[in-house]
Parts: sequence; C-alpha cells; structure tokens
Amino acid sequence: MVATPVQRNVESASARYAASFDKGHLALPPSKKYLVLTCMDARIDPAQAFGIELGDAHVIRNAGASAVDALRSVIISQQLLGTEEIVLVKHTGCGMLTFKNADAYQIVRERLGEAAHAELQERKLDFLPFPELEKAVADDVDFLKQSRLVPDSIAISGWVYEVETGQTRRVV
Ligand SMILES: [Zn+2]
Repeated sequence: MVATPVQRNVESASARYAASFDKGHLALPPSKKYLVLTCMDARIDPAQAFGIELGDAHVIRNAGASAVDALRSVIISQQLLGTEEIVLVKHTGCGMLTFKNADAYQIVRERLGEAAHAELQERKLDFLPFPELEKAVADDVDFLKQSRLVPDSIAISGWVYEVETGQTRRVV
C-alpha cells in the first residue's frame, strides 16, 4: 500500500506514542465529568491550552465551535457518559468570521458544480458563520442554556482563545 506523507506521519507517530503508552486502563466516561466544545482550527491545542489530561474530558470540535452543530455529541456526552459541565471556546481569527452562508453556497457552486449546490439547498445546510466573536460565544451559551436537551444543572461557560497570545479569556 502506497502511503501519503500524512499517512506515514501517523505510522511513525503511533510507533513512538505506543512505545511509552501507559494509559490503557482509563475508563470510558471522562473522569472530570466535563466537555470542551471548541473550533477545529489547527492552531488550537485543547489539551495544552485548556489543561486537559488524557481521560479527563470530552473534546468536541467543529468549524466555529458551534453549539448547534455539536448538539448530538453534547447529548451523548451528558446523557450516556455522565458529563456535567460545558466549557465552550471560540477563538480570534476564526474562519467563521470571514464569510456568510451565501458566500459558501456560491463557492460550492463554483468549485463542485450545480448538482452539489442543489444538494446543499435540499439539505438546507447552514454553515453557521458568525460576524461577531464575543456575541457568538454568548449566543451559543444561551442556545445551550435554553435547550430542553441540556439540563439546568449543567454549568456552562463561554470563552475566547486568542491565537495570537495563547491566552484563553472568559466571556460569559
Ligand atoms: Zn475557528
């Protein structure tokens, strides 16, 4: 099998990691009973930046740290695996600040063609971009607090990670 550079990197990293791995005893439910919802941005290292040890917490990632997009995983985390707190972290320089739904639809049309564009319309896909960072954090925290799928007992905080400084500051 021919391996791409990315695939070769997985193989070599795996060999190094497994050679000294000693965490095979960890339980399935997160030991510190919380979940972190953050963006998929390549510049964010949740474990290092937010102090998460292996086995501590669920880390849910998607484009923009969208609570709407993450709802399925949030419910599984809380109802099936016992987490009781949410730390939601968006970040400066997020790609989601740079476009609107219409722009994304147009890009898909240009790059992938009419059939792909039609599928987006059929699916009514919302890319969930946001124009204002701190407002988006507050709105997503509100969404989770209002949802009947998230119990009132769940502690929810909203934060901004600064890709320029490595700092994480609380918004709500
Ligand atoms: Zn982002």
